[in-house]
Amino acid sequence: MPTQTEKFSLATNGFTDIHDLTPRVSAALEKVSMQNGIVTVFVVGSTAGITTIEFEPGLRKDLPAAFEKLAPMNMRYHHNDTWGDGNGYAHVRAALLGPSLVVPFQNGTLLLGTWQQIVLIDFDNRPRQREIVLQFMGE
Ligand code: ZN
Repeated sequence: MPTQTEKFSLATNGFTDIHDLTPRVSAALEKVSMQNGIVTVFVVGSTAGITTIEFEPGLRKDLPAAFEKLAPMNMRYHHNDTWGDGNGYAHVRAALLGPSLVVPFQNGTLLLGTWQQIVLIDFDNRPRQREIVLQFMGE
């Protein structure tokens, strides 16, 4: 099956910073000129993750609040004892969320719901430059 890989980078602020990647993924799909298949959206690094959400102001507060309950920033993390970088919470949150998402496309269009955007969440405790890999498989 033919594959094509596209990459782009974007600047984030960290601290559970959420970015809508949907326009970039749609643009890349037009560029690769495949009609039917799947795209894997993957973030390089161990303190960020990819998921879908309705990208609206309420949920952009609710999701970070939920992550704060799951893996609080100020809990004790052995990672911080070892490395002193203070981002143990970010590694744990990223592991829970996962680094990738697979989205099907048909007739050159991503099969997302109207209120379903592809988002990057950067959990790290500092601004980062993130590399996103898009791997298209299809025809
Ligand atoms: Zn770390």
